[in-house]
Amino acid sequence: MSELHGLAVHAAGAHLLPYKYDPGELKAHEVEIKISHCGVCHSDVHLIDNDWGISKYPFIPGHEIVGTVVAVGSGVTDRTMGERVGVGWQADSCGICEWCRQGEENLCAKAQPTCVGRNGGFADRVRVNSRFAVPVPTALESENAAPLMCAGITVYSPLRNYDVRPSSRVGVIGIGGLGHLGIQFAKAFGAEVTAFSTSKDKEAEAKSLGAHNFVNTRDTGALKKVAGSFDLLLSTVSADQDWQAYVNALRPKGMLCLVGASPAPVQVQGASLITHQKAVSGSNTGSPHDLAEMLDVAARHGVKAITERFAMAKANDAVTKVKKNQVRYRAVLAN
Ligand code: NAP
Ligand code: ZN
Repeated sequence: MSELHGLAVHAAGAHLLPYKYDPGELKAHEVEIKISHCGVCHSDVHLIDNDWGISKYPFIPGHEIVGTVVAVGSGVTDRTMGERVGVGWQADSCGICEWCRQGEENLCAKAQPTCVGRNGGFADRVRVNSRFAVPVPTALESENAAPLMCAGITVYSPLRNYDVRPSSRVGVIGIGGLGHLGIQFAKAFGAEVTAFSTSKDKEAEAKSLGAHNFVNTRDTGALKKVAGSFDLLLSTVSADQDWQAYVNALRPKGMLCLVGASPAPVQVQGASLITHQKAVSGSNTGSPHDLAEMLDVAARHGVKAITERFAMAKANDAVTKVKKNQVRYRAVLAN
């Protein structure tokens, strides 16, 4: 019998408490990872609070994991003992549907999130399908790489999939864990980057990360001034916004892409999309292939999460700070 130890939440909104579980025999396709670092994503907060109605208690949150492979299942051929790997939002998929077969496992109907119906990374160890344990390039430090596994890939994918290039004008809305990486990746893609933030005190840092412009969204007139300006607007905000104002800020053929989980229906006038062929879309994390590509891009272009480190045992403090929007810019738990 093997025992994994972590911090679990037992009811919606409750504090994390020490917890242990027996994961059973290591399955043929699984690896076991000894966790060194795990980021605290706002999705963990949504899951802790059951904002999406999908949380299954008790569970250990955490899906921005970096660690070392300490056990390999009998059928695993792609990972080796001692290898440093990262795991993000997804821990498994069916492997045989059309989406898995074309390398878009994040769209699989049977995709298994790392900490929904399973236990995640606020722990000493975790087990996942080896296909979802992605090698971390040596140039990246584990503490800065952990946030790339969810926040990083989530902002990287739409930039890649919506064909951002040096001529593009990109806006990143919300400069938190996702947003501060979104600025850096958009810069790496060569775009002109604008940061949209409710926090005026983030302006200097947003610019040092690569933003050319900063829009204070608490100033209601500021959004009107940038009407017709952007090819891609990436919203990382978990709150409802004046979406019409953002659609108005798009150029013809522009896209407003939501990655932040805002709760209410997104309301925009149909005519405002039709006239200049604009679109509103969403994007869901990224595939193992894209994770590997994103890590390589981060290593080569110096994209790096700015982190606030907490001891694993202090996970409750980190979660509280995330809820208050006080983290600059990603809390990372260290074992
Ligand atoms: P975070 O670190 O808390 O950052 C969110 C940022 O949004 C804040 O720093 C703040 O930026 C802004 N914000 C917060 N409350 C706001 C409000 N009421 N009005 C306007 N802006 C507000 O969160 P995160 O970890 O980056 O995650 C952001 C969202 O993305 C969450 O909903 C999360 O669940 C979701 N997510 C989605 C995916 C996916 O695959 N689609 C993956 C990961 C996370 P400013 O201070 O700059 O305003
Ligand atoms: Zn996440």
